[in-house]
Amino acid sequence: MAERTIVIVGMTGSIGTQALEVIEKIKTFQIIAGTYHTNAELAQKLAKKYNVSELICTAEGYEELEGFLEREKPDVTLVCIPGFVSLPITLKAIETSRRVLLASKEALVCGGWLVRQMKEKTSCELIPLDSEHSAVMQLYEPSVEKLLLTSSGGALRDWKLEELDRAKPSDVLKHPVWKMGKRITIDSATMVNKGFEVLEACELFQLRASQIEVLIHKEGLVHAAVFLRDGTIKMHLGFPDMRVPIAYGLTYPERLYQQRSWPDLLEAQLKFERVDRDRYPAFYLAYEIEKDYAKRTAYNAADEVCVDAFLKGRIKFTDIARIIERVIGKIEGNVRDLSDLKDVDGASRRIAEEVIEWLSCTS
Ligand code: MG
Repeated sequence: MAERTIVIVGMTGSIGTQALEVIEKIKTFQIIAGTYHTNAELAQKLAKKYNVSELICTAEGYEELEGFLEREKPDVTLVCIPGFVSLPITLKAIETSRRVLLASKEALVCGGWLVRQMKEKTSCELIPLDSEHSAVMQLYEPSVEKLLLTSSGGALRDWKLEELDRAKPSDVLKHPVWKMGKRITIDSATMVNKGFEVLEACELFQLRASQIEVLIHKEGLVHAAVFLRDGTIKMHLGFPDMRVPIAYGLTYPERLYQQRSWPDLLEAQLKFERVDRDRYPAFYLAYEIEKDYAKRTAYNAADEVCVDAFLKGRIKFTDIARIIERVIGKIEGNVRDLSDLKDVDGASRRIAEEVIEWLSCTS
């Protein structure tokens, strides 16, 4: 296969570094640029090790990256940066690249319709890198009636409900199944991450949230399933290893990545449990705001602020869901474009900060 060009947006993060490992193994890509935010030292080390032609620092903004994408028109752009800011970058990447590998859920959660519109205007392929959505993509056929996305339940899944109040950041950062960045590990414990994934799946596969079921599957071997019209269920199994969906996205429709190890089915229990509303209230919010992009943007923004406040010891673990719900309740109105979404994002952050301040005064 001829060498294709790739840009990695968020190269020093967990997905970015794993993508570099995969690219080194499959040897069919030339990495023409990688971006970093603050970790210049790691970026330089990685650039040297993996032959990255150009480093772009995004700490001051994304103009240089946008200019680069417009000039170079890469074959593939991998977007794996956290937060609302991934939305404008994803739109630019779709406009300029032949294929976009999307690991940033926020782009679809906040601006799903904008992403779909941009995709329709271009011939860009959009491939999800989230393990569950990659699994659905591999299983999908037109007669899908509903989906199953699985969840690990996060680090506090076996804690007593009344003890959740006392969970410290160090408790929550011990994810039982996946090795990931800090925010997504906290989001796994609240299952806000899975709420995002429900909305993400709605956008990617044109389904309603009511068609997407989530069950807790502690073994982490089944990533997703599709329920077909004729009574068939197809499941996707494999070890929880992000390098596999990354490789699939890079080499689709081929599978060039070689791992040759599979879960032992003699040992597998394949057990599933319902998601408890009392334990994971922030997850169920996603189903209530499905049709409202302003509230979806508030869901993300409030969560970002809360995760940061929790990591800094300003709020309790159980405050996260309460604050998000308050913020969503206060955000109203129609959003028409990116600039409206930016306003909602900013307003939601301010409200979340106010609620946090108020909480710290009263406790
Ligand atoms: Mg996932």
